[in-house]
Amino acid sequence: MLSSLPRAADLYQLAAAGKSYTGRIDPSEFQRLLSAVHRAGRCVDISLRFGVEEGVHYLRGELDTELVALCQRCMAPVTLPVRSCFLLGLVRSAGEEPLLPDRFEPFRVEQREMDLHALVEDELLLSLPLVPRHPAGECLQPPIGGATGRESGSDRQNPFAVLAGLAARDEEH
Ligand SMILES: [Zn+2]
Repeated sequence: MLSSLPRAADLYQLAAAGKSYTGRIDPSEFQRLLSAVHRAGRCVDISLRFGVEEGVHYLRGELDTELVALCQRCMAPVTLPVRSCFLLGLVRSAGEEPLLPDRFEPFRVEQREMDLHALVEDELLLSLPLVPRHPAGECLQPPIGGATGRESGSDRQNPFAVLAGLAARDEEH
């Protein structure tokens, strides 16, 4: 179990040293991520490897977890597998980006020390589906029609009629 990822790390130095981090992190450590979903599913498996290839300082990462979101169709909880694989090529400026071989996704290192914990959380957030939903056939809400329009024709009182009645009664006094 990884207790935590460095909050201040020199990514270039980690790459030059060929560092790696493998382990699990309790999802309660990722508060921004948790606020975007209903609740955590299980621990986040993390594998990060730094290195240098063709002169490019890189970070290769694999993240794997499960989160529980609310299905946007039926509003019941749905367990989402969340996986992220990335290969980030470190750059110090936008001018370096075109020099990166295609397989690297440019990652701008703006300060000498970056928060590795926040980087992992950002990658997980990017991997969340925009509209969480149950897979077809598992959703509680039928895809089209049904369940609506049942209230029409009921004997519910029109709220405006009730207000009008109250106003009329006040005028009598
Ligand atoms: Zn659903």
